[in-house]
Amino acid sequence: MITENLRALLKSLPQEVQLIAVSKTKPVEAIKEAYQTGQRHFGENKIQEMAEKYEALPKDIFWHMIGHVQDNKIKYMAPFVSLVHGMDKEKRLKALNKEAVKCNRVIDCLVQIHIAEEDSKFGFDYDEAKSLFQKDLKQIYPNIRVRGLMAMATFTDNNEQLIREFSGLANFYKETQAYLDKYEFNILSMGMSGDYPLAIEQGSNMIRVGTKIFGGRN
Ligand SMILES: *Cc1c(COP(=O)(O)O)cnc(C)c1O
Repeated sequence: MITENLRALLKSLPQEVQLIAVSKTKPVEAIKEAYQTGQRHFGENKIQEMAEKYEALPKDIFWHMIGHVQDNKIKYMAPFVSLVHGMDKEKRLKALNKEAVKCNRVIDCLVQIHIAEEDSKFGFDYDEAKSLFQKDLKQIYPNIRVRGLMAMATFTDNNEQLIREFSGLANFYKETQAYLDKYEFNILSMGMSGDYPLAIEQGSNMIRVGTKIFGGRN
């Protein structure tokens, strides 16, 4: 089923949208099946689980950390992670930069914005993010590259609300691109199994989809 799900999903996506197959909690065998179908970008939400899967799987996989990041665990992913989506505090940027220096890497990351109604979702609010982007982040954190924004919408089937949240983020993304280097700041990561078509309509160019590919999680 994984192969069929993946093929159907890829066929329905516009060319410019990057699919991250969210494999959290799923076994290595499931990832191998998706890999054999041609999928190379996978998302995990626990650093140690991602590191174990990295060890067990082909090295041309691009690993995305999409979950909440604990600073003391960054060292386990710093050598190999491709994109860290959940930069939700400035101190997290600092911690990621520090570990990137130790690995002699420049690590790509996204700033997470809090767009949902629920308090439980992490991230900067728009004003906080605006003042963050006013700083010379390249100068302060030379070993990380802020490549764009990430957010999770409210868990709801109210489409109007989802559209409002996604379009708000897309507008902020465009505003920010206008004064940052837009060739480097060019990722808008929004949309999951339940809401990715709306997210794409509003301008997402990276979606994180688990259930629709791998089935439900316990
Ligand atoms: C689990 C998760 C997803 C994927 O969720 P599905 O509903 O299974 O597609 C996407 N983004 C984040 C941040 C997640 O934690």
